[in-house]
Amino acid sequence: MKKFLGIIAFGALALTACGEAEKQQEASWVVDRFDDIKVLRYEVPGFEELTLEEKELIYSLSEAAKCGRDILWDQNFKYNLAIRRTLESIYTASDVREGEEFVAFEKYLKKLWFANGIHHHYSNDKFKPEFTEEWFREQLAQYINDENRQMDDELLCQIIFDPTLYASRLNRSEGVDVIKASAGNYYEGVSQAEVEAFYTAMAEADKGNPEPISYGLNSKLMRDTEGNIFENVWKVGGMYSAAIEQIVFWLEKAATVANPTQKEIIDALVKYYRSGDLKDFDAYNVLWVKDSASNVDFVNGFIENYGDPLGHKSSWEAVVNFRDEEACHRTEIMAANAQWFEDNAPINPAYRKEEVKGVSAKVITVAMLGGDCFPSTAIGINLPNADWIRKEHGSKSVTIDNITYAYDKAAQGNGFMEEFVLRAEDRERLKKYGKLSDDLHTDLHECLGHGSGQLAEGVSGNELRTYSSTLEEARADLFALYYLGDEKLVEIGLIPTLDVAWAQYADYIMNGIMTQLSRIEPGKTVEEDHMRNRKLIAEWCYEKGKEENVIEWITENGKKYVVINDFERLRELFGELLCEVQRIKSEGDYEAGKALVEAYAVQVDPELHAEVIARNEALKIEPYSGFVNPDYELVTDAEGNVTDVKIIYPTNFVEQHLEYGKEYSFLPSLN
Ligand code: ZN
Repeated sequence: MKKFLGIIAFGALALTACGEAEKQQEASWVVDRFDDIKVLRYEVPGFEELTLEEKELIYSLSEAAKCGRDILWDQNFKYNLAIRRTLESIYTASDVREGEEFVAFEKYLKKLWFANGIHHHYSNDKFKPEFTEEWFREQLAQYINDENRQMDDELLCQIIFDPTLYASRLNRSEGVDVIKASAGNYYEGVSQAEVEAFYTAMAEADKGNPEPISYGLNSKLMRDTEGNIFENVWKVGGMYSAAIEQIVFWLEKAATVANPTQKEIIDALVKYYRSGDLKDFDAYNVLWVKDSASNVDFVNGFIENYGDPLGHKSSWEAVVNFRDEEACHRTEIMAANAQWFEDNAPINPAYRKEEVKGVSAKVITVAMLGGDCFPSTAIGINLPNADWIRKEHGSKSVTIDNITYAYDKAAQGNGFMEEFVLRAEDRERLKKYGKLSDDLHTDLHECLGHGSGQLAEGVSGNELRTYSSTLEEARADLFALYYLGDEKLVEIGLIPTLDVAWAQYADYIMNGIMTQLSRIEPGKTVEEDHMRNRKLIAEWCYEKGKEENVIEWITENGKKYVVINDFERLRELFGELLCEVQRIKSEGDYEAGKALVEAYAVQVDPELHAEVIARNEALKIEPYSGFVNPDYELVTDAEGNVTDVKIIYPTNFVEQHLEYGKEYSFLPSLN
């Protein structure tokens, strides 16, 4: 599970006197801007101080992280690779770099690179080209021939230019067959009812197993030539084999410089990539979660199920990182007090964990992002996802400090706070404690929130179906919000004053109820799980606290603002909602979960929506950010021995993606 950047454009107040300096600061972190996207670079502080073996380990794991890129493209949509290759062929062969049509074409291609496909990474809507079909057909005729043709020209044009075809990557609307309505490539030729029957039968057959595998996690569900439904497994020798073989190659190289514990972990992962057996995946996860001592760590595999409307299939992702020693102090305090937090959670005692196991939380520096973590990335990660492993062996939770640092730097002086935060005291608190409160919120969400609570007897955890991710994110956020405002945090030295919490509360409610709407296209509803979760919490607390005026809408100079009048009472409301969401999860109460999400998290007030978009556009703030990766280069002596690993910071988004497309593209266009 993951936590993404909550607020779109946090940043310190731009004081007139230093506004210019802050603008320059921003410019040095931003490498590209297009459409609703801002691309940043991130630094890897501390890399030079690592040992040679650690650097080599990072090098090999980073190569493995880049080798799976095409898997994600294909998972996102069956024709993504064919489309990308065709467009890249045109882009590199053409020497024209200007003109309205070309500029629109380049923008479209940049959007594809950013989203790992033709659908928006966040809204899941298919991109609308701003170049004409006529112009595009001319390019096809000029640059695409029998040698470099990846797919039928007619189908290609239909997919790009017909807005009704494959319109959404992930459509979970009520009353539709969510499998057929979603363009994601996790299923083919099967209906929602068939998928549900297939996995219900699998779970039934395995009923009572205390260590159930994550059914369907690493395969495409499709039909064989006889029409029988089967799982086409992603493994060496199976689907995506060519890319997985490369990943395995680099993992095996990494194992040669890893410490003994880590070597065992890498071997277990390789075993799973070869067998495709989800029991092997669980065995790997159990080993991985226990290793909190190694300095360098990584994620590499089919991990998160946000892209599957039914939540079975996981997208491929990779992260390579190492420990940020100084910042780790914060999460160590949290982990040391984990049992206290669990025992005092404002939920039914029956749903508290009696014994919190293996809470390990650390602050990390990311060295490489890959797959579904690139270019857009989370700021916190908590793994593994399997409930039984979390219960028996705990989970590992990280906050990514160099990424939040880059976000913070790039947002300074953008004017967001002056536009949306009404009260001076709220702006002061945010300026003073904004980064700390965001970091702590992420730590609490990942380290304690997701790991807390337990299911009632006989509940499998699959009952909430399409609502489970939203409710799970809400549960973790509520846990974090509730405890952020607890005196205990002052007592154990995590925050100097509860003002840190109040900064987060004002920010969170404003974002959930209002400013995050800038990410939604006019006329659309909220679909993404983390956005739904924030809206659910903010709207629910607004309604429940309405009589006491806990949260208030204020209009000034024709602009709407949301303010918190009673922080203490708001904290109680967070606790009440946490109790209910935990009950829903623990009891698998689908109807109650559905009712909550549909009532508070989905629908958008069109008038407020239009206002937020207009005010945000006036600030020229792109609602989404992502990154370019650093490059690593081996330094060798005359005999060819590796003596060092050099880090290089590229600053060209286009070049990085063209290079990845050339050097790390192992799959056929159609898989
Ligand atoms: Zn989360």
